[in-house]
Amino acid sequence: IAHKTAKAGGISQIVWYDQKLLNRLKLENYLNDHKYKAMTNGQFRLYLQPKVDLVSGRISGAESLVRLELPDYGTLYPDSFIPFYEKIGFIAELDFYMLNRTCEYLQRHLGKGLPPLTISVNFSRVTFYHRTFYDTFLEIADRYQIPYGCIEIEVTESFFSEVDDSVIQLLSRLKDMGFLISMDDFGSGYSSLNMLSKLPIQIIKLDREFLKEMERNDSVKGVITWAVSLAHVLKTKIICEGVELPEQVDFLQNIGCDYGQGYYWSKPIPQEEFALRLKAENGCLQFERDKKHIVL
Ligand code: C2E
Ligand code: MG
Ligand code: MG
Ligand code: MG
Repeated sequence: IAHKTAKAGGISQIVWYDQKLLNRLKLENYLNDHKYKAMTNGQFRLYLQPKVDLVSGRISGAESLVRLELPDYGTLYPDSFIPFYEKIGFIAELDFYMLNRTCEYLQRHLGKGLPPLTISVNFSRVTFYHRTFYDTFLEIADRYQIPYGCIEIEVTESFFSEVDDSVIQLLSRLKDMGFLISMDDFGSGYSSLNMLSKLPIQIIKLDREFLKEMERNDSVKGVITWAVSLAHVLKTKIICEGVELPEQVDFLQNIGCDYGQGYYWSKPIPQEEFALRLKAENGCLQFERDKKHIVL
């Protein structure tokens, strides 16, 4: 009776939130029941987003991003299933699965005699605590015979303040072996400058909030310029995330930012499509050389 007669926002709102919660629980049940099946069915898809060298204007690498294709839900984005997989202890399996798909892609790429490419893979904090993390990681890279420099490990800025020294040492070891390590979403956490200089990282990824904020507030330009100098003082490369506008590309080029990534060049795209775009770019190398930016 209550929900039939009530026209007040209060009650219908409660009903609405309940429905949302129910949908969420239904999805989580489904995710849980189908996690292994989704893997064997190939429903976790490897999407790649180009990273662009701001000096040459050419694709220098890519970031691996997972998508989950579910018959009843369509394509799911990581934000809607990664936190859940972290909660139920499935994330390490997914991260290793994506490392596998990435190495498989690299193996095919290198097999065609194409110039080497670095692809970064996102890893959750939890994955580093997997009892065989180090061995499994190396086993996968070696199985596909990938030169270590083609694989980049992306961990978020907050990761570094949350993990124990043993995990940092593990990253150092991987870095010494030739893998690249990058700090994702830099500027969104609380790194101390003192700590930054001690971390085993070669690449800083500036959080995309900076460029977003720059559109509203011009003084953020100074902050981004500072971040670029800081990265260079630390002898790391810097890549700016979330590049969407031509003015942003010009600005980043002017201040000497090394790389860019964002919808301006391309959204994350299925791996097959990425391969085609790389092929197209290599095909018009001569033609594209005079252009300031690549056109995808
Ligand atoms: P992230 O690593 O910071 O990835 C960048 C996110 O920014 C991606 O969202 C990408 O689609 C989005 N993005 C890129 N360029 C632009 C742009 O120009 N404008 C805007 N508005 N957005 C842009 P996505 O793919 O939804 O991934 C979200 C997060 O999920 C990632 O953030 C990463 O933390 C996590 N993730 C993705 N794949 C994996 C995975 O295989 N394992 C783990 N552990 N985490 C993953
Ligand atoms: Mg990332
Ligand atoms: Mg990021
Ligand atoms: Mg992020």
